Amino acid sequence: MHRYDVAVIGAGPAGLLCARNAARRGLSVLLADSHKRPGAKLAAAGGGRGNFTNRTLTERHYVTGDPAFVRAVLRAFPCEKVLELLRELRLPFEERDFGQIFGLRPASFLADRLAVQCGDAGVDLLFGGTATSFTRPRTSPAFGHGTKNAFTFAVGKERIEARSLVIASGSPACPALGADDGLARLAASWGHELVPFRPVLVPLVMPSDWPLSGLEGISLNVRITVLRNGRPLPPDPEGIRSLLFTHRGISGPAVLTASCFRMPGDDLLIDFLPELPVMELLDEKEHGRLIVRNLLSRFMPARLADALCPDDLARRKCAELGKKDRLRLAENVHAFRCRPSGTEGMKRAEAAAGGVALSGLSRHLESLSTPRLHFCGEVLDVAGLLGGYNIHWALASGALVARSLD
Ligand SMILES: Cc1cc2nc3c(=O)[nH]c(=O)nc-3n(C[C@H](O)[C@H](O)[C@H](O)COP(=O)(O)OP(=O)(O)OC[C@H]3O[C@@H](n4cnc5c(N)ncnc54)[C@H](O)[C@@H]3O)c2cc1C
Repeated sequence: MHRYDVAVIGAGPAGLLCARNAARRGLSVLLADSHKRPGAKLAAAGGGRGNFTNRTLTERHYVTGDPAFVRAVLRAFPCEKVLELLRELRLPFEERDFGQIFGLRPASFLADRLAVQCGDAGVDLLFGGTATSFTRPRTSPAFGHGTKNAFTFAVGKERIEARSLVIASGSPACPALGADDGLARLAASWGHELVPFRPVLVPLVMPSDWPLSGLEGISLNVRITVLRNGRPLPPDPEGIRSLLFTHRGISGPAVLTASCFRMPGDDLLIDFLPELPVMELLDEKEHGRLIVRNLLSRFMPARLADALCPDDLARRKCAELGKKDRLRLAENVHAFRCRPSGTEGMKRAEAAAGGVALSGLSRHLESLSTPRLHFCGEVLDVAGLLGGYNIHWALASGALVARSLD
């Protein structure tokens, strides 16, 4: 039996930072992960470079049951804290559009460097075996070892005992990288509310009779509003982002962001020319003689212009359109309403919304029902929009948990 003050399960960004910081505070720490290397998901982040944080960070960039709590965590651990960490790890970075901070080395560098620092701080790394067969303390959680007042679990033939257990096991998004919801279900079996996981940051699938099918490969800047029961949800804080037509529906940053808010049965309202009101274009004198379809195709790909122009208007001159027709055209271009039939699922999702509910946890992310059981990272009911918010949350929540461990 190996004994520790703290066992952290999951060597993603949340578990790595939590383990390193806890060990730096003098605790004996084990960090376990089923992969042979730390940060399997992190290595795939941001197209391999890693979008680690964002200068525009607010709680509005998260889908969660408790925005006020997320705001408090972000205030204590703002963007600058991640930048400090990157500097400490000697990982150069750059700022891209929408305040996104990307690393300038492979994203795996962050996990590898944190793992080295974990080792330097005395953390025992146990990689390449899944942690199973968990038990929790049956008696008082007061200090002292002994299977009755400690958490126990197994990794292969190793049996481990720890006074505190940190679950940093991530979400089931992207199972190809080994993700699953096993430890979230364990938390549920120990009495925690589990908000059902759903794929987010995921391409959307459209019904086969969708009028914009056949446009795959076309990409343009749009604004998407999600409508629930006909009412708009709060907009994407970044507003305008790009959309990509795919074989089965739509993808691209605007869509991945919309997928965070969208639930089955919601509609999308797509503005295909968010910065150029069609009414103003029609009013311009020099456009009066242009064919409507040709006018639109000056500002968007011709195949999309064809698809958006009502058949009876496409070949008419702009100046000939009456008020009703102009409104019909403007509605198609600026408020194209559609209902996705689904998403590409967990397989293609970069994250999952849902997870262990914050309502069952203290402000330090410790279980209210099982003392010394802590959670951090994406296993929690906190999912970030596109832009580095998920890795930021993983690091911020990992650091928060490490501060309260003793
Ligand atoms: C393709 C892709 C690209 C992404 N790009 C970005 C991006 O650019 N920016 C951004 O902010 N976010 C991005 N994300 C999301 C981001 O990677 C995750 O939100 C983040 O890694 C979550 O960190 P975590 O530490 O909570 O969990 P994870 O990184 O998922 O780590 C959890 C670890 O726990 C381990 N584990 C689980 N159960 C057990 C067990 N029983 N025993 C042992 N080990 C276990 C897993 O093996 C895993 O390594 C991306 C995700 C994907 C899939």
